[in-house]
Amino acid sequence: MTELGAAARASRAERMASVRTRMEETGVDALLLSHGADLPWLTGYEAMPLERLTVLVLPLVGGATLVVPGLEAARVALADELFAVRPWSDEEDPVAITVSVLESGPGGKQRRRLAISDRAWATSVLALQARLPDRTWQVASSVTSPVRAVKDRAEVAALRAAGAAADRVATVLQSGGIPLSGRTEADVSADIGSMLVAEGHQRVNFAIVGSGPNGASPHHEPGSRVIGQGETVVCDFGGTYSLDGDIGYCSDITRTVVTGEPSAEIARCYEILRSAQQAAVAAARAGVTAEHVDAVARGTIAEAGYGEQFIHRTGHGIGIEAHEDPYLVGGNREVLAPGHAFSVEPGIYLPGRFGMRLEDIVVIDDDGAPDPLNTVDHSLVVVDG
Ligand code: ZN
Ligand code: ZN
Ligand code: ZN
Repeated sequence: MTELGAAARASRAERMASVRTRMEETGVDALLLSHGADLPWLTGYEAMPLERLTVLVLPLVGGATLVVPGLEAARVALADELFAVRPWSDEEDPVAITVSVLESGPGGKQRRRLAISDRAWATSVLALQARLPDRTWQVASSVTSPVRAVKDRAEVAALRAAGAAADRVATVLQSGGIPLSGRTEADVSADIGSMLVAEGHQRVNFAIVGSGPNGASPHHEPGSRVIGQGETVVCDFGGTYSLDGDIGYCSDITRTVVTGEPSAEIARCYEILRSAQQAAVAAARAGVTAEHVDAVARGTIAEAGYGEQFIHRTGHGIGIEAHEDPYLVGGNREVLAPGHAFSVEPGIYLPGRFGMRLEDIVVIDDDGAPDPLNTVDHSLVVVDG
């Protein structure tokens, strides 16, 4: 059995209560949680992304049951406290078991409005739908997302630890501890990845290194290009970090450095980027909309004449998943609140020439103010000059 501390146990009970409140508000009779982040967020157990069916059946009224492959049952913590476990053997039909769990107990047959994990396999969803006709189906995120987007204390602590670990890697990068000029992007990316692990991450999620013209592609795949002199190098990296044996939370940081003295144009663009990012972080307060923060970053860059070169949204929420709600994008009128955690990462991209991005993770604190989890140098640092 996986051991989870008392705080982790208490937080799971609170999350489950909040989810039930939201099910009631939205008229959902039962939640079916399979693959994806909702399940570990609620139970501490992460289903292996394989074909065997795992489903937490969480009815609005009545006890929850985790239908889980028998060989996985030993990895399930919190069983008997928050939910029952129904292990199934390879000879059994897990879809039939799930249906009977859903329909059992008082009011079981009346559970008609069902919400199922956004990341559930189509094979599971279609099989369940075939055996449960006349039900309505919706994505689980319609219930869980607003609750999950507001991080509790344990989650903020985990995000903070992940951010500090990523910051330590960024510090090494900025101090010239990772040689850049004359090496390939792939080699630099591998260095960053192993440092993320050395600093405590369980897993590397990405380590983008985009040098010179490659930096103009925001999600550039680091390759065989050899980094030259006087070039911008966009380094965007993050991993999953677990605190106190609980499930992992993500880090995500971007620092753009330059190999040798930057051109006047690069330096000018960077100052625009830096003021846009700074203004957007300062604007990210409780009570403003997500799109407002995007508008602040975009407005600063557009005013300086580079609006067309800022080709993506300003940020994304972060937690168990590297990208989750809330998204800082035009059209998102969601109001920011204490506990919301997200990236603020404007960029300027000149195709065929160079690119730059500056990214911190920010949490809205209890007073409604932005609390940046990444604090390493925001200036354009010259390395191996
Ligand atoms: Zn990205
Ligand atoms: Zn990033
Ligand atoms: Zn990001």
